[in-house]
Amino acid sequence: MNLDNSYARLPEGFHASVEPDVVAAPSMLAWNNDLAVELGLDSLAEDEAELARIFSGASRPAGVQPIALAYAGHQFGHFVPQLGDGRAALLGEVVTDAGKRYDIQLKGSGRTPYSRGGDGKSWLGPVLREYIVSEAMHHLGIPTTRALAAVATGEAVYRETVWPGAVFTRVASSHLRVGTFEYFAARRNTDALKTLTEYAIDRHYPEAKSDEVPYVAFFRRVAERQAELVAGWMAVGFIHGVMNTDNTSISGETLDYGPAAYMDEFQFKKVFSSIDQHGRYAFANQTPIAQWNLARLAESLLLLCDARTDFEAILSEFPACYDSCYLDLMRPKLGLMDNKDGDAELIGDWLKYLQDNALDYTLSFRGLATRIDASDPARFGEFELRWRQRVGNQATESAEVVALMNSVNPLFIPRNHRIEQAIQEAVAGDLTVFRDLNVVLAQPFAEQPEYAQYAEAPEPNERVTQTFCGT
Ligand code: AMP
Ligand code: MG
Repeated sequence: MNLDNSYARLPEGFHASVEPDVVAAPSMLAWNNDLAVELGLDSLAEDEAELARIFSGASRPAGVQPIALAYAGHQFGHFVPQLGDGRAALLGEVVTDAGKRYDIQLKGSGRTPYSRGGDGKSWLGPVLREYIVSEAMHHLGIPTTRALAAVATGEAVYRETVWPGAVFTRVASSHLRVGTFEYFAARRNTDALKTLTEYAIDRHYPEAKSDEVPYVAFFRRVAERQAELVAGWMAVGFIHGVMNTDNTSISGETLDYGPAAYMDEFQFKKVFSSIDQHGRYAFANQTPIAQWNLARLAESLLLLCDARTDFEAILSEFPACYDSCYLDLMRPKLGLMDNKDGDAELIGDWLKYLQDNALDYTLSFRGLATRIDASDPARFGEFELRWRQRVGNQATESAEVVALMNSVNPLFIPRNHRIEQAIQEAVAGDLTVFRDLNVVLAQPFAEQPEYAQYAEAPEPNERVTQTFCGT
């Protein structure tokens, strides 16, 4: 596999060696050949039996040095000083021809020194869910970890009931999290914190090194990436569901798809996660929560440099930085070709209209585009008339505006009821819906008439109202 192990070379205390379990009967459920080609790993697929052994952890090619990473984190606002990969094993890092480094990590491959009471395993449901949703996120153009493989283990996993076991292979720019910084900060281990920060700067933001205070430049870049990321989520109606600091990636990728979900009917305060009882991670809270998480990173970095004023300034600029990213994404979604005063209000009024009328977030944007030159009674009420006036006053031809809108408003999103269906049928041995979803979500903006049913919102009896952490 030709893996490097730069994280394993960091000092003891950053990670622990692990032995993935040798499972009974590994077999491939999915292999992401396009991603494998990007990573230079496609030739592994020539031997499918060996492929299943490698990506379940049973076989260890040269260069593979499995480790679990140590981290801490604020979970629902409460600090937990010791977390770490309890069911994950980092096999190593691929460095592409373009010089980009990616972690290759197994999830569900067995216990680690950080497992606490857990079994280190995963069942099929969360594995297929993460596969579908993370790849969909990528194809929507939003930074995310990716899915390389899903392997059935042939073993049983015991939860509230007995499920088939599986192992997921996650590919990430890195697995550095805000919680990794908190881990060393909580121990007042400034040497390790310095090593970690320098590693993170080298790996993700090398340009920060030439700045006057590299730690401040690093923090600014992390904050900017978080603003861009959360704006991307908000624009597609995505709810991460468990924005703890241990799930907040330093690279700015979407990390950790547990109870993550896309909204059908739009609601500002929408929550899916069964454990988020107070709505801390509700849709509309994601921006202030990202800022809160960044404040936890700043606190950790304060142990390395006396830059409180700079960190505070960056944190207080975060909402404006986010607003600017968000408007850049929302204007084209509404066909607004230029910036005008009142655009933010128009966008807000649209969302309020969707909420008041319990309309599907995704399909309403596609529907609005069809109304651009309509003369029959408005489908989206008074809002539509105002919107038509705003887009009608632009110099651009309607057809061009519609083409722009349809190029940024997906027709297909990974809808919860379809994910549930894919999982249920896979448990029964049929991967058709799982495979269909991966095909259709690879081109979320394109009309795909043969897959029209996957664009539809759920019927009332199909609605999924709650999602669960993938443990
Ligand atoms: P997550 O919900 O994936 O962010 O996980 C939170 C913490 O619980 C992490 O430290 C995980 O590694 C750990 N964890 C989750 N599921 C398991 C499991 N089945 N066995 C051991 N540790 C787990
Ligand atoms: Mg996590």
